[in-house]
Amino acid sequence: MQLTDKFGRKISYLRLAVTDRCNLRCQYCMPAHGIDIVDRKELLSYKEMYRITRVLSELGVNKVRLTGGEPFVRRDFVKFLESLSFNDKLKEINITTNGALISNHIEKLEELNINAVNLSMDTLQREKFAQITRRDVFVNVYDTFEKLVESNLKLKLNIVVQSGFNTDEIIDFVELSKDKNIAIRFIEEMPFNGKGQRKIDEEWNFNKIINHIKNQYSVVETLQQKKSSTSKNFKIPGYLGTFGIIPAFTRTICGDCNRIRITATGMFKNCLFDGGVFNVRDFIRNGASDNDLKALFIKTVHKKPENGFVAEASRDNDVSESMSTIGGLSLFIDMKFVIKH
Ligand code: SAM
Repeated sequence: MQLTDKFGRKISYLRLAVTDRCNLRCQYCMPAHGIDIVDRKELLSYKEMYRITRVLSELGVNKVRLTGGEPFVRRDFVKFLESLSFNDKLKEINITTNGALISNHIEKLEELNINAVNLSMDTLQREKFAQITRRDVFVNVYDTFEKLVESNLKLKLNIVVQSGFNTDEIIDFVELSKDKNIAIRFIEEMPFNGKGQRKIDEEWNFNKIINHIKNQYSVVETLQQKKSSTSKNFKIPGYLGTFGIIPAFTRTICGDCNRIRITATGMFKNCLFDGGVFNVRDFIRNGASDNDLKALFIKTVHKKPENGFVAEASRDNDVSESMSTIGGLSLFIDMKFVIKH
């Protein structure tokens, strides 16, 4: 059985937020005072997350990305990884992290055969890092970066491109791929900043980023990529690593999307831009069986919107929540209604 939407897209990739808490306060993600975190009881338990993942893996999901908030701030996260690694239907377990707390866990991640770590590091300058994240932890994050480069884990470096703030470092980041076998990924800034406002002076979208890079190098090679890749990927000939651009805001690659998302409070999202479709946590806590869960996933995925613009248009609130809590909205649809209709 393979989850498939009405456009024939096979859904094989789950992004699971293990917490809404974060140890950083990135400017583009949340206000300085942080976001309103939910009561611990409202977070999915590890047992619930394990069960959701197992049921989805029986429906053809074979790749999981663990994210947050910051996954490593949740107690026993590494133990949870270990239990997930026992599910042999999962071909890949990936993690997105800010890296500030993980340098002691790298060996364990290698042992557990974690496929890839996406490390978020938006600048290579300590003061700027402190300004962006409102925390002075660049030294720890850079140390993690160096350890990950030396490790067996695949490393992707996520950089949110912020107009006038780190755009002067785009080429410095591309240069990191010269002698390191890593994938640099520039992300278009999105309005998910917990404030409901998009304050961007000059749009650094996909085209502007790639043109900026092409102006610096005589040849930029375009790479073939997996259909469902989130980024369009490139390489400077002779460089060990690659770089890519994620059109997160201009949404030009939705057509090949194979992903679903479950937030830390159990909100199921067919698309980053939808407002949340139903709450899996409540469904489970109301006694749903594995078969009930399967029926609901199949029915809901079938209705996945064609792209992020359609998804955004269908929501009844603005895109303004923080990425850290995304979908952790109090949106609740009666589960019986979802099943019957
Ligand atoms: N704490 C982890 C981290 O920092 O990677 C995982 C969660 S974080 C929400 C996941 C990714 O979303 C990070 O790469 C972060 O930079 C990105 N992100 C957060 N807010 C964003 C925004 N408004 N626009 C674009 N990317 C954003």
